[in-house]
Amino acid sequence: MTLQDKIKTTLRDVKDYPKEGIVFKDLSTLLLDPQLTNEIVDDIIANLPSKPDAVVAIESRGFWFGSLIANKLNVPFLPLRKKGKLPGETESISYDLEYGSAIIEIHKGHIQNGWNVMIHDDLLATGGTAKASAILIKNQGGNVHSYTFVVNLDFLGGRESLETSNVHFYSSVSF
Ligand code: AMP
Repeated sequence: MTLQDKIKTTLRDVKDYPKEGIVFKDLSTLLLDPQLTNEIVDDIIANLPSKPDAVVAIESRGFWFGSLIANKLNVPFLPLRKKGKLPGETESISYDLEYGSAIIEIHKGHIQNGWNVMIHDDLLATGGTAKASAILIKNQGGNVHSYTFVVNLDFLGGRESLETSNVHFYSSVSF
């Protein structure tokens, strides 16, 4: 079985969560299998064009694979968190979600000027979260090195909404 098939058969669809009409892709079932988890981390790393200076991942499901990827690459990991969760001085941005809106924050001063930063989240839907993350990274002096996801819901057009013409884009599976 290919990795793509393993991911597609292991994750599960939860209908009408968190709102009616949304089919939620629950990736927590991937984490029940440490070997599969490792294969996903290796797949994302193997498909990078170069090594980033840091990995930024988005609360909270982005942390599942993002911190493992950063650790395996031996580069710093920076969490983007929901409003009010980071204790230090932060910059924040508000953005639209497939279901609602949210505010995310980054710690100021943790991205060094000119760092090439990989953005990771578990899943790309409309692209609002990844786009907001890119703005925070640029405002903090970094460059967007790449966007990586375990799952891309291609039919929602998130990829097109990201400026990926000169930024690497990869997802392990697409629907
Ligand atoms: P977006 O900003 O629209 O690309 O939404 C991406 C974020 O929302 C990710 O952090 C996902 O975890 C979550 N998300 C959005 N839609 C879904 C979905 N259908 N299934 C699972 N997670 C989703």
